[in-house]
Amino acid sequence: MSTEPEPTPQPEPQPASDPVVIEPVEPEEEVPPPPPPPPDETLGVVVSVEPGTWYEVTSVCVTETCINLNTSTTEPEVYSNAGTIRMVCGPCGAYRPILEVVKLDPQPEMS
Ligand SMILES: [Zn+2]
Repeated sequence: MSTEPEPTPQPEPQPASDPVVIEPVEPEEEVPPPPPPPPDETLGVVVSVEPGTWYEVTSVCVTETCINLNTSTTEPEVYSNAGTIRMVCGPCGAYRPILEVVKLDPQPEMS
């Protein structure tokens, strides 16, 4: 019985690889995304509709300083009262130009 130890395999010498150059990365500044472009057409800030009727109203704020600038929102249930719809922007209090008015069908039940 041979007691000769098996030769330990030596790892092959690896060719020296090029040092990895790590370029300093400038920390990126958080840039808020630009607001979407204003809509081309609006129906105006006051829209005449059938009185006493519920509508879905999409409007957009165009106040330069408002956080909702050029952000359109849709109110699912807006009552037309005497036949006009105006949408007031919460943050800035200005009337929001209305983009779309859709009469609800069926009309919500009045309780
Ligand atoms: Zn606003």
